[in-house]
Amino acid sequence: MKYKAVIGMEVHAELKSERKMFCGCLNNPDEVGVNVNVCPVCLAHPGTLPVANRKPIESMIKINFALHGRLADKTKFSRKNYFYPDLPKGYQITSQPDPFIFGGYVEVDEKKIAIDHGHLEEDTGTSIHEGDYTLVNFNRSGVPLMELVTEPVIESGIEARRFCEELQLILRYLGVSDANMEKGEMRCEVNVSIMPEDFKEFGTKVEIKNLNSFRAVEKSINYEIERHKALLEQSEKVIQETRGWDEIKNKTVAQRKKEDAHDYRYFPEPDLPEFDLRDFEIERLKNDIPELPSEKRKRFIEEYGLSSDQVEVLVFDRDLANYFEQTASELKADFVQASFSSLYNYLVSDLRGLMKSQNISFEELKITPENFVDLILLIEKNVIGSRVAKNVLLRMFKDGSDPVAIVKEEGLEQVSDEGELLTTVKKIISLNNAVVEDYKNGKEKAIKFLVGQAMKELKGKGDPLKLEEIFKGEIK
Ligand code: ADP
Ligand code: ZN
Ligand code: MG
Repeated sequence: MKYKAVIGMEVHAELKSERKMFCGCLNNPDEVGVNVNVCPVCLAHPGTLPVANRKPIESMIKINFALHGRLADKTKFSRKNYFYPDLPKGYQITSQPDPFIFGGYVEVDEKKIAIDHGHLEEDTGTSIHEGDYTLVNFNRSGVPLMELVTEPVIESGIEARRFCEELQLILRYLGVSDANMEKGEMRCEVNVSIMPEDFKEFGTKVEIKNLNSFRAVEKSINYEIERHKALLEQSEKVIQETRGWDEIKNKTVAQRKKEDAHDYRYFPEPDLPEFDLRDFEIERLKNDIPELPSEKRKRFIEEYGLSSDQVEVLVFDRDLANYFEQTASELKADFVQASFSSLYNYLVSDLRGLMKSQNISFEELKITPENFVDLILLIEKNVIGSRVAKNVLLRMFKDGSDPVAIVKEEGLEQVSDEGELLTTVKKIISLNNAVVEDYKNGKEKAIKFLVGQAMKELKGKGDPLKLEEIFKGEIK
């Protein structure tokens, strides 16, 4: 029997803000000290009162528009009750029953993955299990947290992974979350079921939690799909349950059954007022939304004629994309359309390679876009060869000097004077009789050696293609 998979995602992302959601404590995910950013409010001392922080609410509004959702008019916070040691109040304040965001989508490889809703809540503390005891750190207690829930419209592990990657990119572009999976700033849960291909009714779903990498999202879904298929093939039933992903064994493991599910007894948080999202500065927030990844992709392909793989590299790294655009606009002024791909190659492989090896960011980079364009133009106009270009780039990288000046000072222009090239070729031929004989006897590669010798003689400033041509003409 042929089956199709049905997958829905629930993604949590910690929102960036100076302060926590309901108190004045710092929201600092990089704090290494334990229980440093805590106060009576986020430690749930009796008699304390929460006050809502405006910034994360504004972030939710931005996310809504970036995802093409419908923003709620009025909303309120509720209490979601359950017991856990890292939840000192015994409840979590959440807007879950009254979401901020309704509908909307994330576009992944030309498919629109529909969002069901998005809400704002507070994060819990963290438990550290050691041996037979557990330690609790409340630095994270009360950190603003967004939860986004998709409709069950994802069809494969790779699609789920791509959804998470794209959502991460959007959150980063918006500047609302660093969404680092390894740091727990973004956490994904998946719901998986399968059904025969011609069925309309969904199968029993299983939820997988604690996925802390994109790879784990993809692999755990693939594993579950196969596990469900095997069960159904043997006429067994899939049990509705929560499973975890065992990174080492590469399999999912049962954690708890649906019967153990919590009844959270939601009720409105009496210490926070209902509020109207229309009272926020919606227009300003909309204007704050930068060009988003999907728009950037389209524009880069149209404007620069880059391939989609090239565009993906630029879209993933906004500093790189900005530098590319700054240099490209200089190139445009010179009307050298064909050079965008060459610019891309020098930027992504040569310059970025250097930057990575020396751990230099674009902010620290000494090469201005103007100078980088000049280097590209020197190459494109055949003033210098690619070998010399590498050395010039290295100089520019070290001291930020102007490539045109370097080339002039050091006399690095490519030798294109036919007379000089011919003299050199003749000299090399006279010095390498044996190799010339080899070439005459059909050893094609011998010519490369001769060109290499001529390049050496010309201190790397010859044009290898031209030299090869002249050699072929001379050796008859
Ligand atoms: P629950 O009541 O168990 O919380 P919801 O309807 O709220 O379930 O959905 C939670 C998540 O599970 C959503 O992302 C949704 O898309 C997904 N989901 C719902 N039904 C299925 C199904 N049969 N198979 C896979 N995912 C599903
Ligand atoms: Zn606090
Ligand atoms: Mg639900």
